Amino acid sequence: MSALSAQGRPVEAVLAELDQLKAHDIDSHGSRLWSLVYYHSPEVHRLAQEAYARYISENALNPLAFPSLRRMENAILSAVKQLLHCPSGGGGTMTSGGTESIFLALKAARDWARAQKPHISTPEVIAPLSAHPAFDKAAHYLGLRLIHTPLTSEGAADVAAMEAAISDRTILLVGSAPSYPHGVIDPIPAIAQLATARGLLCHVDACVGGFILPFLERLGVEVPPFDFRVPGVTSLSVDLHKYGYTPKGASVVLYRERALRRYQFFVYGGWPGGIYASASFSGTRSAGAIAAAWAILQHLGEAGFTEAARAAWEATQRLRAAVEETPGLYIIGRPEATILAIGAHPPLDVYALGDLLAQRGWHLDRQQLPPSLHLTITAGHARVVEEFAKDLQECAAQLHQQSRRAPWQRRLGRAALRTGLAVLPERWVRTMARWIGKTAQTDRPPRRTAALYGMMASLPNQGSVEKLVEDFLDQTLSH
Ligand SMILES: *Cc1c(COP(=O)(O)O)cnc(C)c1O
Repeated sequence: MSALSAQGRPVEAVLAELDQLKAHDIDSHGSRLWSLVYYHSPEVHRLAQEAYARYISENALNPLAFPSLRRMENAILSAVKQLLHCPSGGGGTMTSGGTESIFLALKAARDWARAQKPHISTPEVIAPLSAHPAFDKAAHYLGLRLIHTPLTSEGAADVAAMEAAISDRTILLVGSAPSYPHGVIDPIPAIAQLATARGLLCHVDACVGGFILPFLERLGVEVPPFDFRVPGVTSLSVDLHKYGYTPKGASVVLYRERALRRYQFFVYGGWPGGIYASASFSGTRSAGAIAAAWAILQHLGEAGFTEAARAAWEATQRLRAAVEETPGLYIIGRPEATILAIGAHPPLDVYALGDLLAQRGWHLDRQQLPPSLHLTITAGHARVVEEFAKDLQECAAQLHQQSRRAPWQRRLGRAALRTGLAVLPERWVRTMARWIGKTAQTDRPPRRTAALYGMMASLPNQGSVEKLVEDFLDQTLSH
């Protein structure tokens, strides 16, 4: 579509074109995607559609306008509070996603600090390197300084490093349960204890884990303590649109005390349009996301979520074994939930493995520091684990063969790359920029990316990668 059509178009024609547009996308029901989509079953999908459709026009901005939405939102908050053992004196809000939940927890912390520690001009937040970039983004928007601390060899937060990073400007410590990149649960009790001892707040990012860890616990899986049962945890984020299997646009932020939640609210009394009150960041809020979340929580219930957790957990154990059995591959860190990251020992190139898997229709995110492929494993993946395990092992074997055939050419290639980067970094950046430009223009997801990710990973500074990716965003949004 290049412009608005002059007379508009019939419904059927528009829907037909929509289907045609979608035909090139990865099928989000097929479970060949190992991130971005959390698929449960056709039944849950249909319930979500039906519930969403019933509330497609309503607006959850004004809690007085649609009493049914307020009831559903409170029912969801009550269930999530109970699931995560938030005390009755605590409270939360629904938000549009993990990023907003984290933004609000940081906003509340900032405004709490303004009231309680007014001498701090630029408050600091300490988060392990594996914490989600939503923290960096929120800190950037809110004028906070985010300090990243290193990870242990198991991929968890290094609490001693966090302690060493505390200054008289620190307001909040962060831990993840689990971290998105590697599925590792940070030592929340130690982080929270440190926060309490120093008079700081402590946020647990359970965006991805908050709706599966409690059910794994019910199955008898050993889940380290991460929720409000841990003294000193002051706030927690949990996404419904991940392991709650609800449509996008549903997350919750919880506070141990409602007094802390007050700091996230925004009220402005001087507007001619009326007194404007908003509990979260968004203005207009999707009622469909709330109604669908309510419906799915009702439908699945304790038993349904426990079953979904069992399916995801069993699939995870199978995949873990498949990775560990494959020569040259290993699991990064000590994952304790349903996320795995696959690393590779040289000469095996994990990005090249990602490309081979893409040729077989599997889409895995490429990660860095160290290079790895990401797997978020859902109930919907249970059907495909055997097929994936077989493809993974075949692709790894194929790469081994290739590297045996041309080991010195490869080494030479890598050496040339290193020299090239040292001598001509701008030239590499230009080459990559051209590649990125081409990729941004195509309709299909790129299939051969190993060289690009390899180069990105070896660029001498983070700043030039960030600049390059800004160019990419600029070219993707081509108008
Ligand atoms: C997904 C995720 C977020 C961000 O949530 P969005 O819904 O994508 O905004 C934050 N933290 C963790 C650990 C996550 O997995």
